[in-house]
Amino acid sequence: MVQGNCPMVALIGRPNVGKSTLFNRITKSRKALVDPTPGVTRDRHYDRVTWDNKSFVLVDTGGIDDNPEDLLVGHIREQALAAIEEADIILFLMDGREGVTPADYEVVEILRRTRKPIFHVVNKIDSPKQEVELLAQFYELGIEKLWSLSAEHSFGFRDLMDGLSAIIEGESDDEGLPEDLMRVAFFGRPNVGKSSMINRILGEERMVVSEISGTTRDSVDTLLTHGKYNYLLIDTAGIRRKGKTKEKLEKFSILKSLAALNKCDIAVILIDGEEGITEQDTKVIGYALEHGRALIILVNKWDLLEGDKKRQQQLLSEVGRQLPFLGFAPVLTVSAKTGYGIKRLFPVIGSVYRQYRAVFPTSALNRLLREAIENHSPPIYKNKRLKFYYTSQIGTSPPRFVIMTNSYKGVHFSYQRYLTNKFREGLGLEKVPIQLIFKDKS
Ligand code: GDP
Ligand code: GDP
Repeated sequence: MVQGNCPMVALIGRPNVGKSTLFNRITKSRKALVDPTPGVTRDRHYDRVTWDNKSFVLVDTGGIDDNPEDLLVGHIREQALAAIEEADIILFLMDGREGVTPADYEVVEILRRTRKPIFHVVNKIDSPKQEVELLAQFYELGIEKLWSLSAEHSFGFRDLMDGLSAIIEGESDDEGLPEDLMRVAFFGRPNVGKSSMINRILGEERMVVSEISGTTRDSVDTLLTHGKYNYLLIDTAGIRRKGKTKEKLEKFSILKSLAALNKCDIAVILIDGEEGITEQDTKVIGYALEHGRALIILVNKWDLLEGDKKRQQQLLSEVGRQLPFLGFAPVLTVSAKTGYGIKRLFPVIGSVYRQYRAVFPTSALNRLLREAIENHSPPIYKNKRLKFYYTSQIGTSPPRFVIMTNSYKGVHFSYQRYLTNKFREGLGLEKVPIQLIFKDKS
């Protein structure tokens, strides 16, 4: 953990590896709040950045010392030595397209002399596919952790920034993005209406679109304020049009979906009201469940079923049938085209989010556990009655509880389901996944 107020992060690397591109991406990123200190002339190679409530000063060393000698290998050595001296954290950028150069070996050696945190970043890796092709050779440098990045197109950017902010000590004041930011990602097959839905949401009354991220084609996150709540909308659309072969697309869009799943709290799955649930829908829903995400199902294009009560009922029962394990997920019928049902979406997102993040006092949990056991005695396992001693919450997003028992092996599915339902009811967690983990008391 790097202590102290606002550590200095130095960006070093040969000319043309993409330092200023990264510098601009960081400082212009919607998520990073750049604070122009009043009264100080702003140098575009030097900026204070706040990311996830962590602040640092970012310095583009290449930009500061902008002279023709930059082109000499010797210069990058100087730069590295200076960074070791001056900086608290070093971002060393290499060029994935050019491959490993002698200068990279040299700088890596120099950087080994310091115990300061160093991020070895291989830039110009613009897609997961390129990561496979270009990253491997850099392992020759003997570096344990390489960060692949596309400073230009933002691939790997968030990971890098999260990695960076993870080692910086937080500040007490409340800078940066709102803490209660609800991250909501939209999933669904091509043409199900994701883009239309996002546009419809953005056009809603009283919706304040604070900033739209970057300028590149795959930065599609949007920060929204509605009432006193803040949302980050993560769109996974717009990817499929880029690739060439169908197979590649498929793979890429799944990877994209996984990345979006990693960073969201709530996965909103759009289903085409005309076509019903497809295999791809169930696949993404499966991933979302594995990731422990909260889910909301939107049956879109409901306008096309207007007046057709029979088809409507058929469709909804099909959703229920196909997703029996998803009983907790709210299902809304909507139309991105007409706007039908969109007003209900945000209150639902809000209540799902509150449940997803809820925290409960241990005493209330134990009372609930005792009552549940009294109402329905635990089964006998290996001639002994199963015992549950106590419980406590071990996490949120989704809410997770550990229950201490005399034999976790004896907790069969049916009793586990019984307790899960009791917890859901008792805690008002009917709209989100929850996890009960059984452990033997030693
Ligand atoms: P610097 O001199 O090290 O600051 O490098 P620049 O940021 O000026 O970038 C040098 C060149 O590399 C520019 O033409 C950028 O557009 C390009 N570039 C930077 N980052 C990327 C990237 O992630 N992918 C690709 N394909 N090109 C990049
Ligand atoms: P995406 O690929 O998931 O982003 O889907 P788009 O938003 O591009 O929509 C695909 C097509 O479906 C477009 O022609 C939209 O006009 C249409 N569409 C989207 N939502 C609705 C809806 O609620 N009702 C109807 N009838 N058409 C819709």
